Amino acid sequence: MKACGKRNPLLLSGEFFWIDRIRNTIGGNPEGGIGIGDDAAVIPEGLLWTTDAMVEGVHFLSSWPMDGVGYKSLASSASDIVAMGGKPLYALLTVGLPLSFSDVMYEAFLAGFERAMGDFGIVLMGGDTVRSGTLFFSLTVLGKPFEKPVLRSGAQVGDNIYVTGMLGESALGLEVLLGKEIHGEKKEEWVRRHLYPPCRVSLMQTLVSSYTLTAAIDCSDGFVADLDHIADESGVGYEVHIERMPVPERERGNSPFELPWSYALGGGEDYEIIFTSPEEISPVVAGVAVTCVGKIVESERQLFWYGERVERESIRRGYTHF
Ligand code: ADP
Ligand code: MG
Repeated sequence: MKACGKRNPLLLSGEFFWIDRIRNTIGGNPEGGIGIGDDAAVIPEGLLWTTDAMVEGVHFLSSWPMDGVGYKSLASSASDIVAMGGKPLYALLTVGLPLSFSDVMYEAFLAGFERAMGDFGIVLMGGDTVRSGTLFFSLTVLGKPFEKPVLRSGAQVGDNIYVTGMLGESALGLEVLLGKEIHGEKKEEWVRRHLYPPCRVSLMQTLVSSYTLTAAIDCSDGFVADLDHIADESGVGYEVHIERMPVPERERGNSPFELPWSYALGGGEDYEIIFTSPEEISPVVAGVAVTCVGKIVESERQLFWYGERVERESIRRGYTHF
């Protein structure tokens, strides 16, 4: 396709502008189901359904270990089912292959993909293979709620805000992969976190069977951007105490604008779960840390650093692939 003259200025409006446009025009909400606006759709038959694409040059580089690209493509898509309080079950995989894609790369991709299938209990049921100028992988995952779906829209004033595991390591790993100067002893671990993200299936199963979760989202855009999605959909505000956030090497940074705090707040692709609950949740669930970082309030969205208010706009915002 030939580039057609001027770049559409609306492209600069970002991913969410385009999603809202589709949602408000051609998007559907069948009776008994939930369409656009959450991590996955809820279809009237009671199942959860999501799709995600990973594009070379946007989400990964072909020089990266393809095993990791394979693992991450499935883990990150399945994570949207988990964020709805569900178990990912079946996947469809579409691959777009440029002529430069080698057999060795394909083998590595499939090995990583297969490992993720085993780790999360997902079966590959089909897909499509096309020739493409750009290498891409598109995943559709079907799953089933463990109990009932946990939506982004259910957060209530007074609920606690929790985050699972640790935030910021994936963004640090991305910087290492991109060749940026990042200091720290755990560089390889961070790269692993980026390429082999978690998908919190058993943690979510334990959480929904033991506690009331009012809202949930997986952390893909960055903590603040993802919590904003919960606030938008629930019509509420929040107070978050940054110093409580679970970050790596916490002794290193001494302001919310420095590493690792800035990456925990804005980095993204951690695929941890941010959720709200009126209950006190155990600090470790299914072997994973669960940290209370704040509260849902009526309308204002406020971040605090040891009691002092931090300007939201000055925090590094969520990573956008768009
Ligand atoms: P996530 O980061 O959890 O994968 P997204 O930000 O990609 O979520 O998507 C948010 C919502 O918008 C989801 O309900 C998704 O299905 C919907 N969505 C995104 N792009 C499109 C599209 N092109 N057409 C229809 N729905 C879309
Ligand atoms: Mg999501």
